[in-house]
Amino acid sequence: MHERLTAEYGERPLVPRREPMHELISTILSQRTNWRDEDAAYQELRTLGDWDAISQAPTEAVAHAIRRSNYPEQKAPRIQATLRAICEKRGGYDLDFLAELPVKEALTWLTDLPGVGVKTASLVLLFNYARPVFPVDTHVHRINTRVGSIPKMGEQAAHRALLALLPPAPPLLYQFHVNLLSHGQQVCQWSHPTCEKCVLRERCDAYAVYGNKVPSFQK
Ligand code: SF4
Repeated sequence: MHERLTAEYGERPLVPRREPMHELISTILSQRTNWRDEDAAYQELRTLGDWDAISQAPTEAVAHAIRRSNYPEQKAPRIQATLRAICEKRGGYDLDFLAELPVKEALTWLTDLPGVGVKTASLVLLFNYARPVFPVDTHVHRINTRVGSIPKMGEQAAHRALLALLPPAPPLLYQFHVNLLSHGQQVCQWSHPTCEKCVLRERCDAYAVYGNKVPSFQK
């Protein structure tokens, strides 16, 4: 899969796309939100001040600032709780110590934060610190389930199952992740995947069963 997707979408060098706190908070904002609205919410959130100011602002003001993101009333208190927990544990917002912690400890440290799940933690560790973890978002989960590289399971469990199949090589893990994202957006969509254009179809279990009529994905 990795070779075929690389031939289709190209090499993607592992270069951090944004600084670690930006990655962390934006990933919380991105849940059930497109990237334009996520970015707009992040930019307006930052107009409230530095991370200390945001953590102490009235929660309604934070929710208003991030209103372009879906579920702002739920995300605002989670973001503030996350910021407070980071500051209490580290005395600031520098996450660079995560580059040196053993991977399991780094994952645990991040997922112990109130608003952070394994996908968000994995994104920060792989994208910002080139640690050998594999973030499983909705596209990664859907394609691997349809192809049959993992049996049907939840996204959380899929983090462990897919990582066990992959080499612990951050550049490869990054490239595979972002190419799966492109493939999920352009070809293997949730509903009506365009299998006739798919470079994975010869190896895809769903295609073997349904041909060009693969049904909408059920989690
Ligand atoms: S063949 Fe169809 S269902 Fe299988 S990975 Fe490709 S687009 Fe998705």
